[in-house]
Amino acid sequence: MNNSSCQEHNAPGGPLLLQVLWNDLRSQQEFLSSPYKPGLFAFLIHLILCTPFLALEVLGHFLPGINIYRISRTSETLQLCLQRWLDCFARIAIKYLTTVLPGTALYQFIRMPSFPVLAPSYRQLIGEVIACLLVFDALFFVLHYAMHRVPWLYRRVHQPHHQNRITFALAAQDASAAELLSLQMLAMISAWVVGCHPMSEVVFHLLNTWLAIEDHCGYNFPWALHRLLPCFGGAPFHQAHHHVYRGNFAPYFKHWDWLCGTYLHAREEAGRKHGGRTMRRRRRKKSLGSDCVCVSDCVC
Ligand SMILES: [Zn+2]
Ligand SMILES: [Zn+2]
Repeated sequence: MNNSSCQEHNAPGGPLLLQVLWNDLRSQQEFLSSPYKPGLFAFLIHLILCTPFLALEVLGHFLPGINIYRISRTSETLQLCLQRWLDCFARIAIKYLTTVLPGTALYQFIRMPSFPVLAPSYRQLIGEVIACLLVFDALFFVLHYAMHRVPWLYRRVHQPHHQNRITFALAAQDASAAELLSLQMLAMISAWVVGCHPMSEVVFHLLNTWLAIEDHCGYNFPWALHRLLPCFGGAPFHQAHHHVYRGNFAPYFKHWDWLCGTYLHAREEAGRKHGGRTMRRRRRKKSLGSDCVCVSDCVC
């Protein structure tokens, strides 16, 4: 980049910080061009972003006050069980090593990433990340809906993800090898469809991983994204899907389920399923302002 274009790009109000960050990223071109980067990045970022929720689970054992934010408060979920984290980690690691890393490496090898000199503007970055999320949300909705409607697809591909009826952060990627690979491919294809800057793509993958973890974390914090932006479903929305299977197929936003008539109002579903006992609990919870999806074994 020559001096004049650099000065113009880094004018007051321009993306100076983004340019500095992008220059740092570009200096890692060898790593960024590695065919194994997308799979490795997805795996490591997932583990790192799950760590605070593992810490919360451990802390909740000593400070029970934390557990008021749990969506489901059964004796089973409140028990500190590091074994389920370890088992889940082993399942995910094996599938990454045998399927996701080779599959995404092949895609990355064919695609050949580019590294433009200039960073995107803030507006470009935000717009591209939102566009990627919307495209991914739509593609995943179609795939997820199909996996629940076609029995063969459900048994062969999606059922392993539903082994966790009560979800926890690491379970966001506890799925069959085919589903894990298709999710990574959908994310990469979404970025390709939008045609976004590589830096926007990195931010999108980070946000995508975080949102999947938040969906499965099992906590409903007052500062959760769906509380701040109601267009997002968040953990109660996705936990309702893990309980009753028939709706809430979109991963992040609610609009596709509303438009396609598959939106699950968690409390109505619970009421239909568990009858009067749940109605009494629901009235009690309403007075407490809880968003619990009220499974049969819920004690909140
Ligand atoms: Zn799930
Ligand atoms: Zn499902």
